[in-house]
Amino acid sequence: MAVPIARVFRLLCPLADIFTLAQHPFRWPGGFRAKRGSAPTRHGRFAYEFTSRVERALGAYAHPPAESARPTGQDNPLPLSNSVRPLDNKLLASLPRDDFELLAPVLTALSLAQGIVLAEPGDEFDHVYFPHSGMLSLLAVMKDGKAIETATVGREGIVGGMAGLGLYKSLVRVVVQLPITASRISASHFRKAADKSDAVRNLCINFNEVLLSQARVTAACNAMHLTEARFCRWLLRSADRTASNTVTLTQELLAEMLGVRRTSVTEVASRIQGAGAISYSRGVIKILDRSALESLVCECYQTLLNQQAELA
Ligand SMILES: [Zn+2]
Repeated sequence: MAVPIARVFRLLCPLADIFTLAQHPFRWPGGFRAKRGSAPTRHGRFAYEFTSRVERALGAYAHPPAESARPTGQDNPLPLSNSVRPLDNKLLASLPRDDFELLAPVLTALSLAQGIVLAEPGDEFDHVYFPHSGMLSLLAVMKDGKAIETATVGREGIVGGMAGLGLYKSLVRVVVQLPITASRISASHFRKAADKSDAVRNLCINFNEVLLSQARVTAACNAMHLTEARFCRWLLRSADRTASNTVTLTQELLAEMLGVRRTSVTEVASRIQGAGAISYSRGVIKILDRSALESLVCECYQTLLNQQAELA
């Protein structure tokens, strides 16, 4: 009996697709790899869907606690009591009453734990966040997975604010660096409010300028100043934001933020501890002598404070 060659060829096609697609470095949405500019074939789509199912079954989408993907903010927002007030956020507090009322009915309060990733580069913001307390870091992410902080956002700011102008895509990784409480609004509601309100639209533009100015200073600082001085800058800004002399942060997050190895974090923290400025133990940093810390920090700390005051 003759072998149905066409049938054999059809059976082999999915394997060929898997092999071909896996050779190209451009990711097709969802985790499989696809050739740039080429539409996935029927077999390729089948292979992608099948692979996704297998990966999920094997737990590939579980979030490991290490350097790779962490849980998103949408995974586990924690409900708060009514004691949290949207006006604790300085941008919301700065809005004229009528403009604030465009947002107020659809704001919800939440808290997010340290280490939660709100967005990865390329993600679209479903929500816009107005922090009341704590701090978020915006990180530039390299292809090899290394990341470094380019700006931080606290109660003076907004995360995902450019959604008000229709720009929903994140260009950075957004990580909860110090636990936050925040008001949240859906990106679509925020866009509608910005369409109706000059004040809301200006808020988006102005804070984007604040982030840009921070990124300029941070880029120069990362390139020109020693890790020790940068560590002090970050610590002083964190203490300012939390109004506390104690900052809790894992060695891993500190290393990611400063763009250095974990061992470098230990060495730097030990030197600053030796100068009597801080104590550092099990991820808890206590500022013991603020003036000593200020003598070790680079000029960028004051520059950031000045810029923040000018642009506020
Ligand atoms: Zn600096």
